[in-house]
Amino acid sequence: MAERVDLLNMNIDELKEFLVEMGEEKFRAGQIFKWVNKGVKDIDHMTNLSKPLREKLKEKAYVNKFDIIKKIVSQIDGTIKYVFKLYDDEIIESVLMKYSHGFSVCISSQVGCKMGCKFCASTMDSFSRNLSASEMLDQVITIGKDIEERISNIVVMGIGEPLDNYDNILKFLRLVNHKEGLNIGMRHISISTCGLVPRILELSKENIPVTLSISLHAPNDETRGKIMPINKKYPLDKLIEACKIYTEATNRRITFEYSLIDSVNDKREDAIKLARLIKGMLCHVNLIPVNTVSSTGFVKSSKEKIQMFKNVVESYGIETTVRREMGSDINAACGQLRRNLMDGN
Ligand code: SAH
Repeated sequence: MAERVDLLNMNIDELKEFLVEMGEEKFRAGQIFKWVNKGVKDIDHMTNLSKPLREKLKEKAYVNKFDIIKKIVSQIDGTIKYVFKLYDDEIIESVLMKYSHGFSVCISSQVGCKMGCKFCASTMDSFSRNLSASEMLDQVITIGKDIEERISNIVVMGIGEPLDNYDNILKFLRLVNHKEGLNIGMRHISISTCGLVPRILELSKENIPVTLSISLHAPNDETRGKIMPINKKYPLDKLIEACKIYTEATNRRITFEYSLIDSVNDKREDAIKLARLIKGMLCHVNLIPVNTVSSTGFVKSSKEKIQMFKNVVESYGIETTVRREMGSDINAACGQLRRNLMDGN
């Protein structure tokens, strides 16, 4: 018997084709799409499908299996960290954040990561596999269902490098944006990348106006190469050129993320170099006090240093914000909980 297919991983055209192959009517595709995007896992609960159709579907299909195995609520700001177990017992994390403009979910795109950034917990336990589009979608669906609220924003900044899972990310974006599904606008979605230049160029041609966040973290190749191995493959001049092409094609403002690490990238000259590197671009800078991950040896810059850095970059006319640390009491930063669980803590 052929392998069963995951209904949540299919768009309406694929569902139609699947139904026609089964000798069923195409219009059922929309009904099934709505059920699975509401978080219905049991085909028997799809009550507007006939009993025989449901039986047939159960033979040939299933809905992505996705279990919340841990949920930790921050006492400081209500941020919730979710740990999910996937069908093959792999573990991923997502974070729910409440802002004045609504609920935002930070999702993972891979199990582990290949990129090897020296300060990041997600990459330390290496890479297992890509997430399917449905596994990315299910993080948003399951959290929305759990809190009984509409999720209005998504940031792809959890575990993994989204542009290293390009086809599935693109499929996920189209599914989550679908008006019969979660209907989350592309402008309410941010994708963060360590700088896979060819993929950024490809994304600029997709007509998907998501916000692109670039993990810059250093203003020159020497420092960046030391903390982000990807810089050896795609150095800064190539990355900045790709960002310019992206903003020209999409007219979307790019966010440059810059994690401040004590004595590594937080000097006044670094701020000046950063400002000179990106001046004139349609962009803004988001400074992040680095989260100390045990064993990396990296330490957060002091409050004074962060303020100095911000002032210098702003003096070049570049909008600069310091990221509010959400859920700092629950290890809400990406990858840290998965790591602790794997360590048996
Ligand atoms: N792979 C993607 C997305 C995941 S990481 C990327 O590199 O952008 C999301 C953001 O958190 C990135 O900017 C990443 O560099 C940053 N980050 C990772 N570990 C961190 C840490 N310990 N402290 C602060 N920021 C960190």
